[in-house]
Amino acid sequence: MSFSEKKHESISRHDFIEVVLNKHTNQKSIHALVSFKKEELICLFAAKETFETPNYLTLQIDLNKHISLYPEFLQYTNHGCSPNVFFDTTNMKLVAIKEIEIGDELLFFYPSTELDMAQSFLCSCENVNCIKNIQGALHLDEEVLKNYRLNDFIQSQITNIKQSGIS
Ligand SMILES: [Zn+2]
Repeated sequence: MSFSEKKHESISRHDFIEVVLNKHTNQKSIHALVSFKKEELICLFAAKETFETPNYLTLQIDLNKHISLYPEFLQYTNHGCSPNVFFDTTNMKLVAIKEIEIGDELLFFYPSTELDMAQSFLCSCENVNCIKNIQGALHLDEEVLKNYRLNDFIQSQITNIKQSGIS
């Protein structure tokens, strides 16, 4: 895939990742510069900052703990209903959960790290299993959630809700 087309502009390159700007939508995305095998480590990450409330850049790791990401280009990892990467916030590893080819956009499932999102949105990923309304794991059925890898915090919350029978 070439990003020299008019629609896309390469913003920056970071060893294995390229940040790309879609000039039509003004949205940034990150793409693989190398291929990754399923379960392969893509990179380690750290908390740049920790917040008590979520914002559109944070991942949730505990009830009142939301982290922004370092390296910062990881903030451009967009949502997909058929994700190819997973943010393992326990081991602070970004992992490939599918084969990733050079040029592929890296996508993660937002509800895998968000219980109740600060800003919900309508997904238009065109995947056959697109769940459309992305609001966080709290708003999804167990039947849907079981198809996804969730971070330990989200998984524990979902398990608690299931056990208390509130859902
Ligand atoms: Zn979708």
